[in-house]
Amino acid sequence: MNQTTTQAIPVPSIFTKALRTLSLRHRIALYYTITTALLIAIVFTILFFMVESTVYKQFDEEINKEVSEILSDAHATTHDFTSFARFKNFIDDKEVNYGNKDHDDKETAKVDTEFIQLMNNSGQVMNKSVNLSRNVLMFYPGLTTPAYFSSSVLGSTVRQIQLPLLNNQGIIKGYLLVAVPLKNAIIVLHDLQNVFLFSFPGIILILFVLTRLIAGRSIRPIEMVIATAEKMTQENLHQRIGLPRHHDELYRLSATINALLDRMHEAFQREKQFTADASHELKTPLAVIKGTLEVLVRKPREQEHYETRIQFCLKELNRMAQLIDQLLMLARYESNRMDPRIEQVKLSLALERVKGRLQPVALEKEILFKVFGTENAFVAADPSMLEIILENILSNAIKYSPPRSMITITMERKSSSLACSITDQGIGIPEEKLNAIFERFYRVDESRNSGTGGFGLGLSIVKKLADLQQIKVSVTSREKIGTTFTLTFPSA
Ligand code: ADP
Repeated sequence: MNQTTTQAIPVPSIFTKALRTLSLRHRIALYYTITTALLIAIVFTILFFMVESTVYKQFDEEINKEVSEILSDAHATTHDFTSFARFKNFIDDKEVNYGNKDHDDKETAKVDTEFIQLMNNSGQVMNKSVNLSRNVLMFYPGLTTPAYFSSSVLGSTVRQIQLPLLNNQGIIKGYLLVAVPLKNAIIVLHDLQNVFLFSFPGIILILFVLTRLIAGRSIRPIEMVIATAEKMTQENLHQRIGLPRHHDELYRLSATINALLDRMHEAFQREKQFTADASHELKTPLAVIKGTLEVLVRKPREQEHYETRIQFCLKELNRMAQLIDQLLMLARYESNRMDPRIEQVKLSLALERVKGRLQPVALEKEILFKVFGTENAFVAADPSMLEIILENILSNAIKYSPPRSMITITMERKSSSLACSITDQGIGIPEEKLNAIFERFYRVDESRNSGTGGFGLGLSIVKKLADLQQIKVSVTSREKIGTTFTLTFPSA
């Protein structure tokens, strides 16, 4: 037999769907109204039952007084059923107000007096007050203790006691039933109930309308945020959200969004600047190469002339290739596509390798390296990234140092870190420009850099790679005295 199983897909109810599409101000108003309605209902119910129990207590006291009177009239106690039974006329003797002394017309008996009824233990009425006419009071057989309850006589609500009557041996022989009409009390309780039932929907409706109004006014700044955000494009990133008057959460939300827009605007501007700088850096050598080649083809020239011009073009092309390499490297690290592979690296060995690579340039300027400090210092770093960092800092030190000067490398162990300082005796960096040197395409001074051939990208690569490996880079410098770059490695 083929058995198909169907999986129940939860279908959102109409209520859930409506709730999902509800606006924030309606939702706030709805939740607030539901909560308040529940609270009002609970408070009112408690109040109602408190009033009711107070009213019943008063009537129970009245009944108790009535019972005492009857007992004293009968010269009996509750342990004296025989006296009661003998006291046949106790009800007729009592002053009960029929309103009309004509006892024959029993149906017209008034209900605003107490009703009395004597029962034997098998539930038969032995005697009862005339005002009960043909009616009897409610009786619960088998009750062994006095019980108070509400019942109904002649269409009116009464409060009633059922009191067991005993013989000398303490055995229940019958019951004394006394009831008093609840009269106005019941009207008051009914009125109270009606006031609640009729006023409740009104209160809830007014509450909903008012809450909706207040919620609408309170969330107006959010609507401003939405309107501003909707209008925002790349072209008008400078627009900001108006701040609300009160310094509340919405003020903080607007201020936070404005700060985010500031940062986005800045980043966008930086990107624009970067693209412009990169195109400029590439366009200049291209224009130079194009111009040189155009001049060369105009007429035949000597072999030597060709050679020098082609050498010049090759140099420019090398510079372009170098720039493209650096741009690619930066793009790769900035897009976080390169995760550092951190391992224990012997710092002195990495330094030796970089020094070896830079030796020819250093020798050209007769620059001397001096290394101080721990030979066996290990640091946690990505080996290739670390070498790129060291190479950039050391090549700058050589580039910006005068011939026959010295570059000092110091490795120093601190309590929980290791610091490596590279100090040159070069031209230095003006103090106010120290913060900017890590920005992309930033060169301290075009004139003093002429001939050094840098693009202003080396230190931004250093900063990016150092951040990726949690290495701190700091710089101190004094113009015409020298510059010190310090790398602080976290403890290995
Ligand atoms: P560049 O390729 O131009 O050297 P960098 O990003 O490496 O670019 O450096 C940015 C700028 O910081 C340089 O143009 C230079 O003006 C300055 N600079 C960097 N290192 C040194 C140094 N050791 N001494 C003096 N100036 C330096």
